[in-house]
Amino acid sequence: MRIVRGSDPGPVTKYGDYKPHLQPLFRFRCAYCVSHEELMGGYDAMEVDHFRPCGRIEFEHLKKEWTNLYYACRLCNGSKSSHWPSAEEERRGLRFINPCEEDPDSHVRITRHPANGDLCWLRALTPAGQYTIDKIRLNRKQLLDIRRELVRRERDAEEALNRNREQAERLANDVNQRGATLDVVEVLRSLREEQQRILGSIEELRSRYPFPFDVPAA
Ligand SMILES: [Zn+2]
Repeated sequence: MRIVRGSDPGPVTKYGDYKPHLQPLFRFRCAYCVSHEELMGGYDAMEVDHFRPCGRIEFEHLKKEWTNLYYACRLCNGSKSSHWPSAEEERRGLRFINPCEEDPDSHVRITRHPANGDLCWLRALTPAGQYTIDKIRLNRKQLLDIRRELVRRERDAEEALNRNREQAERLANDVNQRGATLDVVEVLRSLREEQQRILGSIEELRSRYPFPFDVPAA
């Protein structure tokens, strides 16, 4: 999803003062790995990144420029550092994905790990996707573990849902054949409540995936 930035909430004394404004704007996610801050250690583990790195002389003046400030996790910010494509690289489309100007989903997919087949590996669809994955190390172990864990939790939830549905179906058949007892009606009700809870958690897990899948998650 592309980030649509509102007007400058400043002026501020130092660029870090923009951090609480950037947090909701970037939907509590890192601009680059698109991980939810909860999975990265919370607000304190997040930083204010300079999209055009102000460590480079040509961007020095953008240090407190609102439109140049992005919400990023510490490791993405650290890996990105002062990297910036050369004019020659830019001609070849090698550049950072800019979530404030384009939808990152059009550059990257989650696919299977080339070595072990786990659904956790990022694959680039474009040169910008490849540049961003390489420079920010978006296939680092920390992120592979996070994506693998999301997939595992979703699979567990799907299995729990299937077990619940089978049990509810058996009970409903019993009721049809032998009539309802108070006990059975109560169990059926709690199974259905549980179903709603599991469906909610599956939806929540799916919203945490940073990019679309290349292959069906199931
Ligand atoms: Zn990140």
